[in-house]
Amino acid sequence: MELDELYREAILDHARHPRNFGDLEGCDRSAAAKNVSCGDAVRLSLRISRENRIEEIRFCGSGCAISTASASLLTLAVRGKSVEEALQLVESVQRLLTGASAPQDKLSGDLAALAGVRRFPQRVSCAMLSWHALEDALRTGETNSA
Ligand code: ZN
Repeated sequence: MELDELYREAILDHARHPRNFGDLEGCDRSAAAKNVSCGDAVRLSLRISRENRIEEIRFCGSGCAISTASASLLTLAVRGKSVEEALQLVESVQRLLTGASAPQDKLSGDLAALAGVRRFPQRVSCAMLSWHALEDALRTGETNSA
């Protein structure tokens, strides 16, 4: 009960004060995703270092509280991670949200707040939107190298 309340607060906080919101100048990769059932739209822009690490990431778009909070949490969670680590995180989040993960797979920090969404299956696509965009950007994202 108390934990649920904590999760709810983290989600609301990120929805009201999204972190890393905006466009990234001189990004290497970008990807957009839309959730037609809710009207959420998100676009990620990233800069990847030569060592294949996510140096910088921002998101923009508009959507419901859950999609905005999830994108905000995403930017904090993957900055500084390698592309490989970030892709693994996408998988962990997906497993968590679809209820397929074991309890020991729990995500750390604020990201754990997303676990609260699994009780609302119709909102899972809201929470997953930015993570799908991230996967897109990392796997197939266009390279804007000049
Ligand atoms: Zn939504």
